[in-house]
Amino acid sequence: MKTKKEVITLGTARENLKSARRIVIKVGTSTLAHADTGKLNLYRIEHLVREIADLHNAGKEIIFVSSGAIAAGMNKLGIKVKPQTIPENQALAAVGQGVLMHIYEKFFAEYGQTIGQILLTKENAADAHARENSGNSFRAILDMGAIPVVNENDAVGVDEIRIGDNDNLSAIVAAMIDAEVLIILSDIDGLYDGNPKVDKDARLIDEVTEINSEIERIAGGAGTKLGIGGMFTKIQAAKLATAHGVTMLIVNGSTNGNLRRALNGEKVGTIFPRRESS
Ligand code: GLU
Repeated sequence: MKTKKEVITLGTARENLKSARRIVIKVGTSTLAHADTGKLNLYRIEHLVREIADLHNAGKEIIFVSSGAIAAGMNKLGIKVKPQTIPENQALAAVGQGVLMHIYEKFFAEYGQTIGQILLTKENAADAHARENSGNSFRAILDMGAIPVVNENDAVGVDEIRIGDNDNLSAIVAAMIDAEVLIILSDIDGLYDGNPKVDKDARLIDEVTEINSEIERIAGGAGTKLGIGGMFTKIQAAKLATAHGVTMLIVNGSTNGNLRRALNGEKVGTIFPRRESS
């Protein structure tokens, strides 16, 4: 019987990234949109798409989890303040998801890359049967040489069936399809040992081999809504991913070339090596 081993030898996890084949890449709204206007950052999106298409050309299977539907919907409808009601947010997502896919369709097509949209809720991963069915869809898209573009199905999302954030969603997807690596693109360089926005001495943590209470405290602690740069949900995602044999990285999505550097085993961001079974 398989038993869980604590963790891989320190330092080898980055080396192993070079041979990773199936990779989930998650990008958040703060990376996709301009902070000042809330409008889509086309420069950033275009670079990201090119990098992903190139990784695909290099033989990797890429699953792309993108937020930004609600932001794109607000933009399109000229709404400045995020509404409070569920139906209004559902409507914004319904409008914005189409806008988002239109842009991805255009940019990926420029590099000859086909994409396919998958929208999920908690129900699609609720039990083994649901996970198997969802996984089959991903595998079929990948087998056809296309890149699945994934988001939560916010247009029908209500509290009972929502996963709620795309960090956790991307970890669920990575586990569901046996990905080797999950890369979460953030608006900061990785996990720091303090809050870099207020503490000049805060240092970037290169590798987290165990997600203990100290790491959770650094990330904002259980129960708080906003961790350092939204780190709390990323740590939840890291727990889920690493427990399912997926190595996770938090990397700055604003720096062009970071995806490639990370997958080359270079020291960018924070790595959470998968927990291996022996
Ligand atoms: N699914 C949401 C959207 O597309 C984003 C959720 C998140 O940012 O974590 O707007």
